[in-house]
Amino acid sequence: MQHKKRILTGDRPTGQLHLGHYVGTLKNRVRLQDDYDCFFIIADLQMLTDHLEEYASIEGNVFEVMCDYLGVGLRPENTFFVQSQVPELAELTMYFSFLVTLARLQRNPTVKDEAKTYGVTSMSYGFLGYPVSQAADILAFKADLIPIGQDQLPHVEQTREIVRSFNRIFDKEVFVLPQPLVGEVPILVGTDGDNKMSKSLDNFIAFAHSPQETERRILNMVTDHKRAYRKDPGHPDECFTFRYWSIFSPSDTPLVCRECESATRGCKECKTQLAIKLNDYLVEIRERRQQYASQPDLVWDILATGTRRARVVAAETLAEVREAMKISFPQLLMKGGK
Ligand code: ATP
Ligand code: MG
Repeated sequence: MQHKKRILTGDRPTGQLHLGHYVGTLKNRVRLQDDYDCFFIIADLQMLTDHLEEYASIEGNVFEVMCDYLGVGLRPENTFFVQSQVPELAELTMYFSFLVTLARLQRNPTVKDEAKTYGVTSMSYGFLGYPVSQAADILAFKADLIPIGQDQLPHVEQTREIVRSFNRIFDKEVFVLPQPLVGEVPILVGTDGDNKMSKSLDNFIAFAHSPQETERRILNMVTDHKRAYRKDPGHPDECFTFRYWSIFSPSDTPLVCRECESATRGCKECKTQLAIKLNDYLVEIRERRQQYASQPDLVWDILATGTRRARVVAAETLAEVREAMKISFPQLLMKGGK
């Protein structure tokens, strides 16, 4: 039997997932889950790169992310796991750290951007090196396809470089080159109209938000800077809110566009309508999410099963890696009575 190809992707447990995750990567995951063997990592150690002081919220956030995953329609049979509970990943990160230069890490555009956005002025060793740890997360499972938002592309490129270096230096084809897959909206801008929608910037609409909260956030969105008065014709192409219409309710865009340009629709009513559409879009996801959130035992069970499976697969890869690196020490294993 031909084995299914493998997917590895995931999220940091910095809070609840949002629409940016949905159009950037989650939708792809839902679509592909039948055809691929899917591994979904909740990257709690990666969260510590810039949220160290929030360490006490990791467990609660992991639960929220799991509810979001199951809510959007990822099935419990997929392999969901917690990064810190698979220590082989930390080990592999260590080995890979010798294959990447400091200059290469400092050139990573996403790391640079994040450092700027979150104001990390004196970057930790772990922050600068997190793309290496991400490479370990991908390669420990020998994943073929990586569904991600555009901001993660430099990390997949870094991973591919590590594959080439490792296989060349240790003279063995241990790893295969993973391919990235970016979602239909590579970067969804948040409700502030300026930055990538992000948990850390509070410019997001989460699956866990209530319809009222969603409406409040939409009503605060910027619209068309050029339209000073209700009677002025609008410019949909330059309106931030209109972009949301085209992403989340494309069939309405011709009407919205006409009414905006002829000033028969005001910005406030436009946003109220958009909130209704978005809430409709999210009804099913929110219902399913709520069902799981009310059964924490079941959710932790799914995560425990996945984490056990992830450890088995990662341990197999690590055995191969140590062997290729000539650090498997069979003599010592024998003495240890293994
Ligand atoms: P944080 O603020 O904690 O960094 P985040 O919202 O940026 O959180 P991540 O956990 O860093 O989320 O990203 C998880 C995945 O979701 C990545 O594949 C990323 O590319 C994708 N993603 C996150 N935000 C967006 C967005 N606004 N548009 C498109 N894709 C996104
Ligand atoms: Mg991020």
